[in-house]
Amino acid sequence: MQEEGSLFLIEEERIKKRVLELALEIEKDYKGKKPLFIGILKGAFIFLADLVRFIDMDLEIDFLAVSSYGKFTESTGEVEILKDIQIPIKDRHVIIVEDIVDTGLTLKYIKDLLLSRGPKSLKICALLDKKERRKVDIDADYVGFTVPDRFLVGYGLDMAEKYRNLPYIKELRD
Ligand code: 5GP
Repeated sequence: MQEEGSLFLIEEERIKKRVLELALEIEKDYKGKKPLFIGILKGAFIFLADLVRFIDMDLEIDFLAVSSYGKFTESTGEVEILKDIQIPIKDRHVIIVEDIVDTGLTLKYIKDLLLSRGPKSLKICALLDKKERRKVDIDADYVGFTVPDRFLVGYGLDMAEKYRNLPYIKELRD
């Protein structure tokens, strides 16, 4: 992670190292449990794909797609489910995989929705955490990096559908 001329950047190797650390932690915590990973589309697709390939255990994967608010604007907390999960989560050990927690409104909505379906346990794994922006009381159980309040793209994160394929994360300036 570096602030080059105050431009925030997380290099590819740094991400890979941290994702491996998270994977090993999750593998240890869920030993013998066959967790269900729910990736939040679209932003989490690369993070989830890299994360699960470092985990050597029985697991399942599903995806939930939610509407995101217009970029550079505030999240309202009104989340629309565009694609629901297909695997029933009742009595399952569920891990929500999210790209970034900002105000926390999206994640709070998703967490409450999934909790209402009776999982055995529910944890959150977020690659990035903009802690200073939080509006609701919600925290991820596994966090890759705590980041400053900048608009970030790459490694799944977009700006109007661009930049998702960058192997690193960078700050976007106009
Ligand atoms: P929240 O409801 O926590 O405010 O918003 C979370 C969602 O906002 C993320 O899943 C992501 O789609 C979007 N978001 C928040 N901050 C950023 C950012 O810095 N860059 C990008 N590309 N998306 C962001």
